[in-house]
Amino acid sequence: MIDHDTDTAASSSSDAPAKDFIRAMVERDLSAGRLGRTVHTRFPPEPNGYLHLGHAKSICLNFGLAREYNGLCNLRFDDTNPLKESREYVDAIREDVRWLGFDWEDREYYASDYFEQLYEFAEKLIRMGKAYVDSLTADEIREFRGTLTRPGRNSPYRERGVEENLDLFRRMRAGEFADGAHVLRARINMASPNLIMRDPALYRIRKARHHRTDERWCIYPMYDYTHCISDSLEGVTHSLCTLEFVNNRELYDWILETLGIYHPEQTEFARLSITCTVLSKRKLIQLVEEKRVAGWDDPRMPTLSGLRRRGVPPEALRDFCSRIGVARADNTVEYGLLEFCVRERLNATAPRAMAVLNPLKVIVENYPEDQVEWFALPLMPDCPEKGVRRIPFSREIWIEREDFREDAPKKFFRLAPGREVRLRCAYYITCKEVLKDASGNITGLICTYDPQSRGGGTPDNRKIKGTLHWVAASHCRSMEVRLYEHLFCREDPENVEPDTSFLDLLNPDSLRIVEGLADPSVIGLAPGQCLQFERLGYFTVDADSTPEHPVFNRTVSLKDTWTKLEKRNEE
Ligand code: ATP
Ligand code: MG
Repeated sequence: MIDHDTDTAASSSSDAPAKDFIRAMVERDLSAGRLGRTVHTRFPPEPNGYLHLGHAKSICLNFGLAREYNGLCNLRFDDTNPLKESREYVDAIREDVRWLGFDWEDREYYASDYFEQLYEFAEKLIRMGKAYVDSLTADEIREFRGTLTRPGRNSPYRERGVEENLDLFRRMRAGEFADGAHVLRARINMASPNLIMRDPALYRIRKARHHRTDERWCIYPMYDYTHCISDSLEGVTHSLCTLEFVNNRELYDWILETLGIYHPEQTEFARLSITCTVLSKRKLIQLVEEKRVAGWDDPRMPTLSGLRRRGVPPEALRDFCSRIGVARADNTVEYGLLEFCVRERLNATAPRAMAVLNPLKVIVENYPEDQVEWFALPLMPDCPEKGVRRIPFSREIWIEREDFREDAPKKFFRLAPGREVRLRCAYYITCKEVLKDASGNITGLICTYDPQSRGGGTPDNRKIKGTLHWVAASHCRSMEVRLYEHLFCREDPENVEPDTSFLDLLNPDSLRIVEGLADPSVIGLAPGQCLQFERLGYFTVDADSTPEHPVFNRTVSLKDTWTKLEKRNEE
């Protein structure tokens, strides 16, 4: 099922996207002079939820093509269902597209802006005998439609005359009928092998307030009807959509050909699926509404706002979209590839700092009690010119509890009784004594330091394998740290067994909150700022963070190096 191996993906990294079948098609169209205009695409979200990773793929494709071929890309809200859509979603989508790094300039369109034109086209279809008002109930329409193996039957209203149809359609618009009393249908072919072509609905009555047109309309056009005409009116050249619309293409073509208006070409590509998460708006809405997560921007959500809050840089997402490419066959991408892209980006941009998440006190008994020294931690180890962070060192420090073991195996290269380790950019320390409470829990360590090891080396060049991160007890501040795991405990939460819900697969440990300690130089950072806490991962200041109560999200762990280290230590 999974066809993306992180390692191969990493080694086949490319800056310019490879020529996928869509780009090849665009180039053929351009060189054959078939377009007669510049490449023109659109990203057409329905404002009924927040954008997710799948949309990022579509945004990068549509806006990316426009950018690569000196063309244009529209942002078009496909707002034809007033019951599910809202201004909140429109605003969130605009913010997300912009954040991802794309600009639609003055081309922000709404299907609802075309309602009058769409209505005129519908009357034209009626006058051509290509559409009729049907008065069957929804259940009857479904029954008359037939199945894949059984042709449909004509509705008894199919032969209504043009005048009667026009009259009924106008009265539908005027609000004379209740929801469901009539629908306008295309008059195509009830025996078509393509079920979508069996007289599809074009308009339905829905007495609902629309977030843009208010109560001006009580009939609303259907998606298939609206979409192709919107593409046509906007002069789109390439209408790219996901594979599930492959059967709708015949209707797309029929409507535009029948109306005799400009006809863009629809092309389908595979939708993005990714392991350990769901990418369907319906399911994401459920997670939000049932409060299984803190909101659309919960950092565990695969939404763009969630990823942003978590600290994923837009550059990493664009890199991810370019690596997964565009193909015609469905596939599932490993979540690890996204994490790889995030690490790649943050490794090059996130300054280093130190923090301790599960603290254990170390008293350096031969270090002068009132002394404080400042050591230099390189902000970017690969770019010395980026400077250093000054880190205070004092007699009492905190180290990570997991970095000490009383009964350590031989190859445990961290701290243990009698063993020596390096404190990152400070001194070597040796463990002399383990302090315990009445019930035998370890409460601290007494160590000594070697003054000759200042800065992390000694004149005798003795070999020290372990290097620990630490913070000075005298200077550190506490912070809330939110550690995330996958939202689902299964790789394929989209494919649940018939009588289970995807909600049963939620990972109960997807969020763990710990009280960490960090050097004060990182505590004043503004929300959205990223850094690497050495050995712990990349962290981003959360929107909830205040100077009094700093909050950090772990964006991604340093898993690769960490597991390698861990393995070596356990050997
Ligand atoms: P969902 O299935 O999550 O409800 P949708 O397709 O209904 O998504 P739209 O707002 O209609 O959501 O999508 C806008 C555009 O984004 C469409 O062109 C759609 O094809 C594309 N898109 C949506 N989901 C994905 C995905 N998983 N992979 C690639 N493109 C997607
Ligand atoms: Mg859709």
